[in-house]
Amino acid sequence: MTSESDKSDVVDSPIGFSQHDHGACVSDGLAAAAAHCKEGGLRFTPVRRKVLEILLQEHRALGAYAILDRLREDGFGSQPPVAYRALDFLVANGLAHKIERLNAFIACVHPQKSHTPAFMICRLCDAVAETLSSPARGALGDAARATGFRIERTVVEAEGVCPLCVDKGDT
Ligand SMILES: [Zn+2]
Ligand SMILES: [Zn+2]
Ligand SMILES: [Zn+2]
Repeated sequence: MTSESDKSDVVDSPIGFSQHDHGACVSDGLAAAAAHCKEGGLRFTPVRRKVLEILLQEHRALGAYAILDRLREDGFGSQPPVAYRALDFLVANGLAHKIERLNAFIACVHPQKSHTPAFMICRLCDAVAETLSSPARGALGDAARATGFRIERTVVEAEGVCPLCVDKGDT
């Protein structure tokens, strides 16, 4: 698989809210991360891999303490720095994102591509779906260009109700 051949994936539909083969999310996510680390000469240590696996298990953001609990259950120790250092590594290398709104973390769904993520967060069940945003192109980009402001980072976190919760009539 080359990065040239899968550019069509860039315009994807967020999978977090739809029915899909979730086993593939976990195995493909771990395989992609391992390949990404190998390519970049990064060390994909067992604890980094475990933290990513925990994040991949659900399309839901997890706080550092929830992650720490799972690490402890799996025998990786219980020192908070262990979880924080692994999360820092995953975020710094584009394998996971921090959801500021929830102070929690989620596995990236397209780790090989440089992108600005946008998140849709369900306020009822905490499900999170990631999609791509293009701040340079929208109204924000226009305003930035007009004022000579150079955008370095944007955070797009939409809060609302996911399709599953709408169907359940919880609103
Ligand atoms: Zn999935
Ligand atoms: Zn991402
Ligand atoms: Zn929901």
